[in-house]
Amino acid sequence: MTPDAAGRLPSPGSSYDVLVIGGGITGAGIARDAALRGWRTLLVEKDDFASGTSSRSSRLVHGGLRYLEHGQLGLVFESSNERRRLLRLAPHLVHPLAFTWPVYRGARLPLWKVNAGVTLYDALALFRNVHRHELLRAAAVQRAEPTLDARHLSGGVRYWDAHTDDARLTLANALDAERAGATVLNHVTVTALRMQGATADGARLRCTLSGAETEVQARAIVNATGPWSDSVRALEGAAARPSVRGSKGVHILVPRERVGNRDALTLLHPDDGRVMFALPAGTFTIFGTTDTYADESPDSVRASAADVDYLLTAANAFFPAAALSRADVVSAWAGIRPLVAASGDTPGAASREHAIEVTPAGVVTITGGKLTTYRIMAAQVVDAVERRLGVRHRCITGTTPLGDDTARREAACTGADSARVDPALEWRFGDLAFAVAHEHARTLGDLLIRRTKLAFERRDNGLGIGPDVARRVAPLLGWTEQDQRAEVERFAEEVRRIFGAGAGA
Ligand code: FAD
Repeated sequence: MTPDAAGRLPSPGSSYDVLVIGGGITGAGIARDAALRGWRTLLVEKDDFASGTSSRSSRLVHGGLRYLEHGQLGLVFESSNERRRLLRLAPHLVHPLAFTWPVYRGARLPLWKVNAGVTLYDALALFRNVHRHELLRAAAVQRAEPTLDARHLSGGVRYWDAHTDDARLTLANALDAERAGATVLNHVTVTALRMQGATADGARLRCTLSGAETEVQARAIVNATGPWSDSVRALEGAAARPSVRGSKGVHILVPRERVGNRDALTLLHPDDGRVMFALPAGTFTIFGTTDTYADESPDSVRASAADVDYLLTAANAFFPAAALSRADVVSAWAGIRPLVAASGDTPGAASREHAIEVTPAGVVTITGGKLTTYRIMAAQVVDAVERRLGVRHRCITGTTPLGDDTARREAACTGADSARVDPALEWRFGDLAFAVAHEHARTLGDLLIRRTKLAFERRDNGLGIGPDVARRVAPLLGWTEQDQRAEVERFAEEVRRIFGAGAGA
């Protein structure tokens, strides 16, 4: 039993207006919106906030230029609007990002078409994107990205989107929900729904750290469990057709100095012409993503050697001097897109729109969507909840800035706590202490995978620093030596689950 878990659960019979199941970006956004409207809200997440798909994305807050090919103009319009809003309301987490799209002779999408696409993209953003796109001659593409293969280059475009830290964006929503009065619990799973006749009116909760259990009542229940939606739906008892279809997406992270890219790039994979990205991430470059329907469990999805090779093929085609091999891959990981079932024959063409449904047991269930559109998805879910509760309040997330703890965290990282956990990477021991004190971090995985990105950016996925970090945070979490050993074991298991044997280990 991990001692910190004692007393985390609500007392038996506690009653809430809204119970939100799932602490990814969707659930955290819904909890924030509901709490800001004044509802007594409980958010429960079975693992850690953003431990599912919401820490495995391409980390883009984007209009979705790619969706124009599939005629999804409404989605691009909505996403562009949300991009503009998040740049304004969360400037500490959402930053403009310039993309170069190099176009080669004979490519599936010729230059005129790409230029027409980005022109439409700017128009759908009402010409209020960070900057307007530019058409580039081949020489200008070369100047912008000197290490890119320049042979057969016919030109390119430069356009703008935004990037974020997906796990931190999710956490910021959960913390804001808490500030607005919600109870937010990570490492607490919903194991059963309490049925009053045919209607769900509460849930059984189990703390996965201590094994303690309790039961709570709720006037409205939201299922925001992304790729797990159907397993939570199964708790209602009745058989239902699947509501989500998982599509697996893989990323690899390599040293940026090997690639030499300056900004982000939009690329067409040389084998199948799929749109993919090269994304700057500090001293690293991320290549992604794949997009394949998968039946793998979202609890253990990870990159296969074939996924890694597919991404390396593209990386080497566009940056031949890099000559990347599997040994250069620092980390590789996968996530499951919770696509609305029956939304397309191929995952790439499947809509990223979301669907909100009230099940026969009265559970408001949301599937699909994107990181970018989480705020508007949340607003619509809370509207649906309010229709059930028969009371309407105004949604204020469209104008309320997202909480910013940067200054507090910086203050906590002064003195001895400014020492870096890994001299080559940006995170300090103070970040870890702050995460335990103020950000609900309870496990080594919380600290090394989601509050920081140490596990993504170290070749050993953080395994080598696990024991030292456990010793440092032990007094803060009340861990005995035995607890520390158990935590190191648990972390190793989580790393195996997410990163596999470790592409670069
Ligand atoms: P999740 O993040 O998976 O959250 C669901 C949560 O529910 C999980 O944390 C899980 O632990 C919890 N849960 C499950 N069962 C229970 C239970 N019984 N009790 C309590 N909790 C439970 N979108 C963008 O806008 N931009 C991008 O760049 C982008 N890139 C992507 C790249 C990839 C490879 C993938 C896979 C997706 C990408 N997306 C992107 C889409 C975006 O990441 C997802 O739409 C979004 O993260 C889904 O969030 P979610 O909260 O619905 O699901």
